[in-house]
Amino acid sequence: MIIVMEKHAADEKIERVMEDLISRGFDVHRSTGSDQTVLGVVGNVASLDTREFELFDGVQEVIRVSEPYKLTSRTWKRERTVVTARGVAVGGDEVVVMAGPCTIESETQLFETARRVARAGARILRGGAYKPRSSPYAFQGMGVEGLKLLRAAGDETGMATISEVMEISQIEKMLEYVDIMQVGARNMQNFNLLSALGQTRKPVLLKRGMSATIQEWLLAAEYIMAGGNYDVILCERGIRTFETYTRNTLDISAIPVIHHLSHLPIIADPSHAVGRRDKVMPLARAIVAAGADGVLIEVHHDPEKALCDGPQSLYPDQFARLMDELRIIVPAVGRTL
Ligand code: PEP
Ligand code: MN
Repeated sequence: MIIVMEKHAADEKIERVMEDLISRGFDVHRSTGSDQTVLGVVGNVASLDTREFELFDGVQEVIRVSEPYKLTSRTWKRERTVVTARGVAVGGDEVVVMAGPCTIESETQLFETARRVARAGARILRGGAYKPRSSPYAFQGMGVEGLKLLRAAGDETGMATISEVMEISQIEKMLEYVDIMQVGARNMQNFNLLSALGQTRKPVLLKRGMSATIQEWLLAAEYIMAGGNYDVILCERGIRTFETYTRNTLDISAIPVIHHLSHLPIIADPSHAVGRRDKVMPLARAIVAAGADGVLIEVHHDPEKALCDGPQSLYPDQFARLMDELRIIVPAVGRTL
């Protein structure tokens, strides 16, 4: 249920409504817009009589939200959310480019790659320290040692950092080193992990599960937001279809659909979507042209020697060329880079 307060309603009127709801055992999430406040009421609201709240002083309207997701919806928050990580704003005018290796492998590999992507204009450095590998025999990541390198490389090059969290026990350590917690496609419906991240106040990048519908994806984001962590960025990374030529199929339509349904920023990852380097650049151009708030791209200083996802990682020179191309596209969609 959503309670829309009158324009410029006094704080005490808003608080009176909130207190009443809380005393009845509901969770209330306040969205303070530029001229109007909206309260999201979650819990077993079926039993509530909306008229009771319509009569409260300062209430304009009480709406039952028909979508199963509430806090991620535009009904609760009309204005777009801007998620800020170490000074980098995702969801504002700037299209934010996140780049780096799939996996942190060594100091040389990470720093070489970080310097090259930073010079080309990337704002956020990616690199996995805990890897969800399809095979248990594949390299599983450097763990905390990798996180330390990521922080050091981000600091040296002036970039924020993003890395994947796979389970609850990793969260505490990661909070020290990472500016954005990435939830991978394979964990999109790990509801315990999502709830635990909802208890932190660290931005979360939630990748779309490879077989998840948009509604399931928004409900996964809802788990994080229900805990009071509203800093969620969605990331389309390709879904499984009947096509086998590419690793996955990039669902480009998810970008305008999410912008319509939700206030949350949405970025896309062409690397995991297509799975081969020669197709990453055209997809990245399409992602930006479709209005995404950012792109997440795998880059490796020496991809032939990469321990993970080498074939889909761009060479640093290719990445720099792509950034030049994106600089031409962004003004056409009213953005900056
Ligand atoms: C990754 O970003 O390296 C990754 C494992 O991505 P996904 O969860 O989308 O497969
Ligand atoms: Mn990867």
